[in-house]
Amino acid sequence: MITYELVLADGRIVDGCGNPWYDGDLAIEQGHIADIAPAGSLHGKQTIDVNGRFIAPGFIDIHTHSDLSILVNRRAESAVRQGVTTQLIGNCGMSPAPLDEAHMTEQKQQWGPISDQPEVSWGWHTFGEYLDTLQGGGLGINIASLAGHGALRIAGMGLSEGMASETVLHKMKILLAEAMQAGAFGMSTGLVYPPGCYASTEEIISLCRVVAKFHGIYASHIRGERETILDAVAEAIHIGRDAGVPVQISHNAPKFGAPCDASANLGLVEKARANGQDVTVDNDLHTDLAPALTGGLPQELQDLPAEEIAALLRNTERRAEIRAEIIADRKPAFGPVGLLKHAQWQRITLLHAPHSPEAVGKTIQTIASERGCEPFEAYFDLIVENGHAAEAIFDYIDEANIRILLKHPAVMICSDGQVLAPYGFLNEPPPYSPCSYGEFPGALERYVRDEPVLSLQEAIRKMTSFPAQRLGFRDRGVLREGAWADIVVFDLERIHDRATNLYPHPYPFENYPHQYPNGIDYVFVNGSMVVGEGEHTGALPGKVLKNSH
Ligand SMILES: [Zn+2]
Repeated sequence: MITYELVLADGRIVDGCGNPWYDGDLAIEQGHIADIAPAGSLHGKQTIDVNGRFIAPGFIDIHTHSDLSILVNRRAESAVRQGVTTQLIGNCGMSPAPLDEAHMTEQKQQWGPISDQPEVSWGWHTFGEYLDTLQGGGLGINIASLAGHGALRIAGMGLSEGMASETVLHKMKILLAEAMQAGAFGMSTGLVYPPGCYASTEEIISLCRVVAKFHGIYASHIRGERETILDAVAEAIHIGRDAGVPVQISHNAPKFGAPCDASANLGLVEKARANGQDVTVDNDLHTDLAPALTGGLPQELQDLPAEEIAALLRNTERRAEIRAEIIADRKPAFGPVGLLKHAQWQRITLLHAPHSPEAVGKTIQTIASERGCEPFEAYFDLIVENGHAAEAIFDYIDEANIRILLKHPAVMICSDGQVLAPYGFLNEPPPYSPCSYGEFPGALERYVRDEPVLSLQEAIRKMTSFPAQRLGFRDRGVLREGAWADIVVFDLERIHDRATNLYPHPYPFENYPHQYPNGIDYVFVNGSMVVGEGEHTGALPGKVLKNSH
């Protein structure tokens, strides 16, 4: 009889492919799944009885922004505690590589204060050197990466607003080819953020042709997720068709101000698929986002130093122009700005404002009536008083759209979060990011167990084999002999997200500062236990995964 290193005994095995669970033992040996057999039939040097609990492939989070935070917290605390064993970084046009020395300041500016942390050495230039840095210090989870179009553009022309010249475009293509060769899984864009919002469709198509040569994907935070959402989805599909690349439409819930519900954008995806084009979608299950108030300003002002922004807003004439520009929204701004445009001030709750403590926890609507001014004026005044430090929770997504997306077979579940931890720099002050702590347990708790929007096997498929297929992982995302042992063991009865605050939320928030979820008992990454009995073991067995096609 074979004695394996480790056996998970008598669990309910959900294989990741969408099949209902079955009872079984699962053996791990040398990083891989060595055997799966009827309960009670496998023997291990170590055996963990997981009776009554589910054994699933580790969750693959296809949309995250952990590019720098994983360097600060290599244990990947908030991710692995959710059962995530692989993340895709480099989304929304942002990646810290390639890095051009001449444009270091602009590249750093994109990331804010974390870029000055000692763990973030900026000791790389090429994409490959950045991947080496990631692997060098060890990782709690596996990391795969996209090359950000914004990083390519910054390396070519900084944050300039104009078109990319032939010379710049040529340089961007060379850097992109280098990144693809080094193992990038494709290119991402963030077409509502600087500098992506300055790029033409043609610029993106010509870059995607490079991606096509290496069989990568095009992932896009599209050019507007509200009033222009259908045009923006159509643009992404057009780019994919013209360049010959598969398209991944990122976090594709319509935001407040969209003229339609999610079935309209999904309709365009279905049509493209019916025409033979490979287009898929991901979405996060939260209705809120907590950006800085300055993120609501027109794109070219967002990154100015706080004093310059304050000076502009103190000038009555400029203030009126900025307000008109926000409402006109000619270069569609990111989702939350819909609440400004459509005067939904009761959906914006102030979270941090060091110089206006009396206003924290109140909506802009309430702050304005207390101050006896118009809400737009209160919004601007809070920026003048607090600069980039003013942050608010924008409740800008209708949960009905989240359900529509969840049920669609071409939609995967992603977090759109990043690796965080309730200690150290990443918790000073605690960021409001429920998706970073509670995405996957929350999905199982709210949409599988408490309200059966999805079957368990379908939810697991959207977290495992489906994103694995999108990224070309043949040996992850499923429970099968020979696959890498990326595994989560969870208790569906006990599972509980302790990071999400459902809207309308009272203040203080029930689940903020965020805590790790309950019910995620064991997590294995490449066969090593990273979470055991709900606690991090300190192991760093994660690998940098590289596109090799
Ligand atoms: Zn995005």
